[in-house]
Amino acid sequence: MRVAIAGAGLAGLSCAKYLVDAGYTPIVLERRDVLGGLVAAWKDSDGDWYETGLHAFFGAYPNMLQLLKELGIEDRLQWKEHTLIFNQPEKPGTLSRFDVPDIPSPFNIIASILRNNDMLTWEQKIRFAIGLLPAIVRGQKYVEEMDKYSFSEWLKRQGVGERVASDVFIAASKALTFINPDEVSSTILLTALNRFLQERYGSKIAFLDGSPTERLCQPIVDYITEGGGEVRLNAPLKEILLNPDGTVKGFLLRGLNGKPDEVVTADFYVSAMSVDPLKVMLPEPWQQIEFFQKLEGLEGVPVINLQLWFDRKLTDIDHLLFSRSPLLSVYADMSNTCREYANPDRSMLELVLAPAKDWISKSDEEIVAATMIELEKLFPDHFGKDNPAKLLKSHVVKTPRSVYKATPGRQQYRPPQKTPIANFFLSGSYTMQRYLGSMEGAVLSGKLTAQAICESLPEASASNLQTLTRTPATNAATA
Ligand SMILES: Cc1cc2nc3c(=O)[nH]c(=O)nc-3n(C[C@H](O)[C@H](O)[C@H](O)COP(=O)(O)OP(=O)(O)OC[C@H]3O[C@@H](n4cnc5c(N)ncnc54)[C@H](O)[C@@H]3O)c2cc1C
Repeated sequence: MRVAIAGAGLAGLSCAKYLVDAGYTPIVLERRDVLGGLVAAWKDSDGDWYETGLHAFFGAYPNMLQLLKELGIEDRLQWKEHTLIFNQPEKPGTLSRFDVPDIPSPFNIIASILRNNDMLTWEQKIRFAIGLLPAIVRGQKYVEEMDKYSFSEWLKRQGVGERVASDVFIAASKALTFINPDEVSSTILLTALNRFLQERYGSKIAFLDGSPTERLCQPIVDYITEGGGEVRLNAPLKEILLNPDGTVKGFLLRGLNGKPDEVVTADFYVSAMSVDPLKVMLPEPWQQIEFFQKLEGLEGVPVINLQLWFDRKLTDIDHLLFSRSPLLSVYADMSNTCREYANPDRSMLELVLAPAKDWISKSDEEIVAATMIELEKLFPDHFGKDNPAKLLKSHVVKTPRSVYKATPGRQQYRPPQKTPIANFFLSGSYTMQRYLGSMEGAVLSGKLTAQAICESLPEASASNLQTLTRTPATNAATA
């Protein structure tokens, strides 16, 4: 059976991979000339990679880790020390660490919090621990109910002081969703905290050993093509064609470079596009269906990724850092963290600028200049003195609409993978799965879509489903 999938981000590729496992023939159609969607990367004329985003993998990513294992590429993740590292803006150039000892959860996380005295007072630690109790005791149900509050509101309701919000959670909120705690749904941070408290290595961070396009997406494509499927770049979906009964008749692809448009037909169809392009492509009859109308409640959030190459080494830290800068979110010196980008003599910083709504329309020069000013606070020894580090080159990648904007009340708008249209399914990290807008969420959504397709044909797919359930989708939220 053929399945046409629009979008070769991680969700579309994961969906195709699991459909191959279940005996289907997927054909993935990607609009751009590059794989990966939000993890896409390009090589510049010097042969250096530049990426859509700095991507950190977590121990609490079971579906991603399983996928890498199934592809035989789990050794491409470079695991870092189990610690979270924050800059201290009030003491430029200094760092505060939450070192997580190798003892069972949640004691490892509790110990890391108790041992850190730079960022939280004892009173704040105790208040925060008490505030978290309902989430620990009542679990995911409570976490979902809290979607009506922003994280700042939730902290206030739990009686946790303002400083906790300003110190630790601005950094966490920006890193997870590219927005601040006064805008973000408390479900997001509580979900992440719950995972970290429940899984011994949940908060352990890894980096891929090279570009996501080549080192992560290409092996999935190879697996799909070896299994009889196909992945086509430069194949933009232009229109979803319907049968008289409202089911999908075909995907109409826009012909590029003077070529005519083309219709691709299949037994099933999947949109693995992000939510914004899907919304504008909904066929007119579907726009009357409540299921699709709800998509209006979701939209992508802007974010900017910078890569800066310097004439010297700025740091030897081999880890993700939370900048705690108003302009920036997380960053890393990729010349230390990533094997393919390694350089013993020169740093290459990769930094995420968020929230980015006021910056997305500014020029690259303005964005780089503002970032350089922030670097004076992060690396005072190397900037603003007689012999400041020299910026050799830079790349700025702006994404005006990235993952869905996780403001309060969004959970109710996130659709399941199965739609009211019998032969049409959704995939993407914005669809309902417990891992929010992340790589893990994208991979899990793809797997759930493949399962939903198998389940829609019970008699034909019983054996196929067995294949898939040998690698069950880990998704307590939908279980
Ligand atoms: C700066 C940044 C940093 C991030 N950091 C992290 C991180 O540290 N950890 C983490 O887990 N996640 C991170 N993420 C989030 C993660 O990248 C995404 O959640 C995930 O990659 C989304 O995958 P997706 O397949 O759901 O969507 P997308 O990647 O958006 O894929 C959708 C695909 O559909 C294609 N498409 C759109 N329209 C059409 C059309 N008409 N026809 C055909 N194809 C079409 C697009 O080109 C794209 O390839 C980050 C994202 C960004 C932008």
